[in-house]
Amino acid sequence: MTGFGEELAALPMEELLRVATEAAPDTVERALAREPLDLFDFAALLSPEAGRRLEDLAQRAHALTVQRFGKTVQLYAPLYVSNECVETCTYCAFSRTNPIARKTLTPEQAVAEARLLRARGFRHLLIVSGEHPRHVSPEYLGTILRALAAETPSLSVEVQPQTEEIYREWTAAGAEGLVVYQETYDRDTYARVHLAGKKKDFDWRLATPDRGAAGGMKRLGIGALFGLSDWRQEALRLAAHARYLVRRYWRCFVTVSFPRLRPAEYADTLARHPLADADLARLVCAFRLLLPDVGVVLSTREPAQLRDGLVRLGVTQMSAGSRTEPGGYSAPEVPTGRQFEVSDERTAGEVARTIRELGFDPVWKDWEAALRG
Ligand code: SF4
Repeated sequence: MTGFGEELAALPMEELLRVATEAAPDTVERALAREPLDLFDFAALLSPEAGRRLEDLAQRAHALTVQRFGKTVQLYAPLYVSNECVETCTYCAFSRTNPIARKTLTPEQAVAEARLLRARGFRHLLIVSGEHPRHVSPEYLGTILRALAAETPSLSVEVQPQTEEIYREWTAAGAEGLVVYQETYDRDTYARVHLAGKKKDFDWRLATPDRGAAGGMKRLGIGALFGLSDWRQEALRLAAHARYLVRRYWRCFVTVSFPRLRPAEYADTLARHPLADADLARLVCAFRLLLPDVGVVLSTREPAQLRDGLVRLGVTQMSAGSRTEPGGYSAPEVPTGRQFEVSDERTAGEVARTIRELGFDPVWKDWEAALRG
């Protein structure tokens, strides 16, 4: 076990959880006033007592976000290139044995999707795929990246975890960002929902951002899938992971995401540990206070009204007008397996307009590069 694996094992989870569930009013008050916060302060902000201080939390989170990022929200679009997958994840429609219509885009088809997204305003694309060593090989993704990089200013990948060497090849091909969600930081839950395939290897996945950074990725995105396990535990471990990455890879821009389970064909998406809307809002604020310079990403998994509300609290990046199946932008009428159902179905233009109405600027290009100087 290397890197964050050691830190994860050493986290004083019992004490942190006690604070996260039992913090007294003065502990929450202290956490709200501290700068910088430590992980125990962050735990206090997750407590039921802090739930009664949401307005104070929201004000501080809003002020910090505006100070660090301005009144901007970066818009990006996921571009699914394949739904082929050899993994067995109980919560995902792409899971190996599910009888969905499978498809892998040719480089030409991927370019056609990217051109459509560019016409809608997007300059930042997230390349997404299932995990399949033959259909979605590193060589295939390298070809896709090279084809897209010619016309797309900013590319990130959310695909099967790879070696440092392959990340180096992909960054040379045009990838700047790597997104990899641990799904759950609880090893027992991880084993329960990942039944077969390489994804069963918790530690290999956990060390993926380290390999990405070593391979030259400038942006590292992490997250947990909320609903699988106790949300306070997930939030604490996710926060510890983000802190580790910020400390260790100070040249990289780190983002966090809190996707919640969504309905998906043939998948078990019952949230055994639901994260309520108010608690999600609190998470956004608490992360902003703990990690003022970290980007907070919100996808179309969340409903429109909630997304609009969270813009003011600390969200810095949003997807919009998303399709979750390969080819979904060019040929939405072709029946192809989607990864999950989106909730916010507004077009990118509608989302951008709402962001403006909220007093923020929708930003279509990669502003992290400017922020990093
Ligand atoms: S979550 Fe990823 S690895 Fe798991 S089945 Fe879905 S696409 Fe495949």
